[in-house]
Amino acid sequence: MADPSPRPRYSIVAPVFNEERIIEELHRRVTEAMDTLDEPYELVLVNDGSHDRSLELMHQLRERDPRVKIVNFSRNFGHQVAITAGLDYAQGDAVIIIDADLQDPPEVILQLIEKWKEGYEVVYAMRQERKGESWFKETTAKLFYRLIIRITDIDIPPDTGDFRLADRKAVQAMRTLRERHRFMRGLSVWTGFRQTGVQYVRSERFAGETKYPLRKMVRFALDGITSFSYLPLQIATYFGFVIASLSLVGIAAVIFLRLYGHQALLGQATTLVSVLFLGGIQLIFLGIIGEYLGRIYDEVKARPLYVVSDTWGFDESAN
Ligand code: UDP
Ligand code: MG
Repeated sequence: MADPSPRPRYSIVAPVFNEERIIEELHRRVTEAMDTLDEPYELVLVNDGSHDRSLELMHQLRERDPRVKIVNFSRNFGHQVAITAGLDYAQGDAVIIIDADLQDPPEVILQLIEKWKEGYEVVYAMRQERKGESWFKETTAKLFYRLIIRITDIDIPPDTGDFRLADRKAVQAMRTLRERHRFMRGLSVWTGFRQTGVQYVRSERFAGETKYPLRKMVRFALDGITSFSYLPLQIATYFGFVIASLSLVGIAAVIFLRLYGHQALLGQATTLVSVLFLGGIQLIFLGIIGEYLGRIYDEVKARPLYVVSDTWGFDESAN
């Protein structure tokens, strides 16, 4: 058994939300991969308010393997926040973020580490192929990445998730970003540094169900867009100009027809349709403003990102 040295070289961070069927296997696969390196590491499991046996199983792992460390949230705070806590607690020189469900194969960590040793400070894993994902998820994800690349100022690489390695310097930079609606894969690019990617094939979930139903996926996509782009707000301006110009033409046409035509314009139906159309557009843009406003409100409240109930295995003085 490896000795739990005070400062591990690598930290593997995995957020866990009701993954009782996976934890044992995650540990087995991570250990198998990491043991080939023969360098000290820790496995930081962030329990994001699971209400199954996840926490109990983490404790069982810890009894056998002191490299397993646990951060236990007081409730569910969400995937991105759990990753953030992992970065806060991790002590390694390089931190690797990985999904607990083994869709990110732990063996790929070795490739990430290789790039890190070449001198890259952020190494992200790019999905070459996705296995066992629904057609809907695959297509919407693809579209989303194409969209966000177009409308944001930072170069978020396409088809990357949160599976990545970050050097201590990049981790410290990411830790200073305390915004509430977090899009970690964007924030890690935002920090700059030397970045590169490695390709991998994303596997199927080892067991259990996805914790991202459509509702959460939409929220997450909106967080990504609003975090890095004002375009949705600006569209209102463009739209306003287009409609205002069209109505100028319309006004001229109406006056012309009134003075020289036989009949004034069509009447009620036209009025109704244009009022409904504009009313709809205005409500949509009110909604978009609302999305940004709600996020501003959340920032202003400045609540902590998460509340930790307990931790196990961390050296108190190191953080
Ligand atoms: N997760 C979490 N909190 C949540 C939702 C998910 O910690 O509120 C974890 C989950 O346990 C998994 C990772 O985030 O380790 C990715 O979630 P999932 O596999 O369900 O997402 P998908 O791969 O389907 O997009
Ligand atoms: Mg998954």
